[in-house]
Amino acid sequence: MSEKQVAMVIDLNKCIGCQACTAACKSLWTDEEGQEYMLWNNVETRPGRGYPKDWEQEGGGFKDGQLQYGPLAPPENFGGEVPLNHEAVYFEGKAERLQQSEPMGHGANWDEDSSSGEYPNNYHFYLPRLCNHCTKPACLEACPVRAIYKREQDGIVLVDQDKCQGFRMCNRACPYDKVYFNFVKRKSQKCIFCFPRLEDGVAPACARQCPGRLRFVGFLDDVGGPIHKLVYEWKVALPLHPEFGTEPNVYYVPPILPPRFDEAGRFADEPRVPMEYLRYLFGAEVDHALITLHEEMDRKKAGKASELMDLLIAKDWKSLFHIPDVQVA
Ligand code: SF4
Repeated sequence: MSEKQVAMVIDLNKCIGCQACTAACKSLWTDEEGQEYMLWNNVETRPGRGYPKDWEQEGGGFKDGQLQYGPLAPPENFGGEVPLNHEAVYFEGKAERLQQSEPMGHGANWDEDSSSGEYPNNYHFYLPRLCNHCTKPACLEACPVRAIYKREQDGIVLVDQDKCQGFRMCNRACPYDKVYFNFVKRKSQKCIFCFPRLEDGVAPACARQCPGRLRFVGFLDDVGGPIHKLVYEWKVALPLHPEFGTEPNVYYVPPILPPRFDEAGRFADEPRVPMEYLRYLFGAEVDHALITLHEEMDRKKAGKASELMDLLIAKDWKSLFHIPDVQVA
């Protein structure tokens, strides 16, 4: 248990799936050999199979207090590398873009913009994912050489690269498949919540580069800060798959799409995204969160004050980042 816990709230109603967060993270932290397939931050289209493929079905986490191990995700679940025919495509105007003999079977955001359901009531939304810097990290619990630790001062979960011996138990225990294995260095590697930036008063790259201003960063116990308000006071920010038992510290404001159309083509009083699917992702609390969001949206539309809507709209981007004692830029 750490003294304080840093956390992130991601408002799914504002994510446009542009992958600016993914690119910011990738170019900052995982551009070395052995890291090609790593996306410490990725954005998945939902419903969809995710990255790596079908990670939700692979096990890990805790069940009845017991640590669970899933299988190691095979390389094909990430899609592998397919080189680009760069010269031929860009300078000679010929050849296929990708050098490959076999069709690809999967890749990052494989399901991009693919809707589920029947037109005109089809739907999809974007789900950004990163390590949850869990309060009960299954990865840490699983490591036989104590290479994984949780920082006292902020609860960030890190892999000590000098201690890691590549047993890969963390890969099998993390139910979010957010520990990657560097096959060149033979070490496990994962999101570090941009701790060197945080220590300098700069928000994590994924949050700072997000043009949708949908990521809040702060401490859970910072009463008055946006994280505390959204998670504990308004209760509209929920962890992903709480049943995995790791107590994640990345929270999501669930998506509200336009309502379904009835047979006459008018809006029906029914949500576009099936509630069963949202409960599958965020648990039973999602019902209450959506009621609160709708009530506060109605207040705002009626010209009344709504602290919640003002918080979520975040007209001033600095209001997204609240780290006491540090001026976050
Ligand atoms: Fe560990 Fe996975 Fe939790 Fe991150 S999300 S702290 S890697 S168990």
